[in-house]
Amino acid sequence: MAKDLSTTTWHGAPRREIPWFPTIDAEACIGCQLCFVTCGREVFDMTADTPPRADVARPYNCMVGCSTCAMVCPTDAISFPDKELVRRAEREHRIFRQVRQEATSKRAKVGAAEARAAAEKKLAETTTRARVSIAGTFGEKRFLVKLDELTQDRPFDIVDLKLEVPTVKGLREKTPAFMAFGVTSTDDGDVRGFLAEVKELVRANGLVWVDETIG
Ligand code: SF4
Ligand code: SF4
Repeated sequence: MAKDLSTTTWHGAPRREIPWFPTIDAEACIGCQLCFVTCGREVFDMTADTPPRADVARPYNCMVGCSTCAMVCPTDAISFPDKELVRRAEREHRIFRQVRQEATSKRAKVGAAEARAAAEKKLAETTTRARVSIAGTFGEKRFLVKLDELTQDRPFDIVDLKLEVPTVKGLREKTPAFMAFGVTSTDDGDVRGFLAEVKELVRANGLVWVDETIG
């Protein structure tokens, strides 16, 4: 069912009080249907004639001031009132107070959309987790204690820590072992700065940074 916009308002003015809509010259219309497919407001129907003719079925659906269909009609079969009709409607209906309100609201919406897009972009660019593998001789939990100290009172955590040792005796005898753990942010912040500190701690403890996976 076609939409009916005749009961809407144009910047506060009742749409039916503004006679701005197209008129078709039936003799000039060749039934190309370009106006029918161009108008997004369902102003036109096409008649059942052969060839069909454009019919202004819902005149008050037309957007006040728009004349796109007349611009594209190949035979100039579409005409509109003089633009003075629109000027008069602007004055008589005192639309500009409403226009100012609409402009303020539009700016607020655009601002909110931009802020949301910026926040989403920042989030997309934020690395909130990483997975790290290191190797070396860990001995007497020394490294783990320092790792724990690094997270104290900070929005980061070390999670899912796995230590692979060839044998328990081997660990005691300080043979090389392998450790993997996750680095996460507890407040959706970026972990890359913290990751650099972890890397420095690994280096300072004589361990080897095997690899890291971001994200
Ligand atoms: S664009 Fe012009 S010629 Fe084509 S159907 Fe519409 S009025 Fe007729
Ligand atoms: S002027 Fe614009 S809104 Fe009005 S009928 Fe033509 S294309 Fe549709």
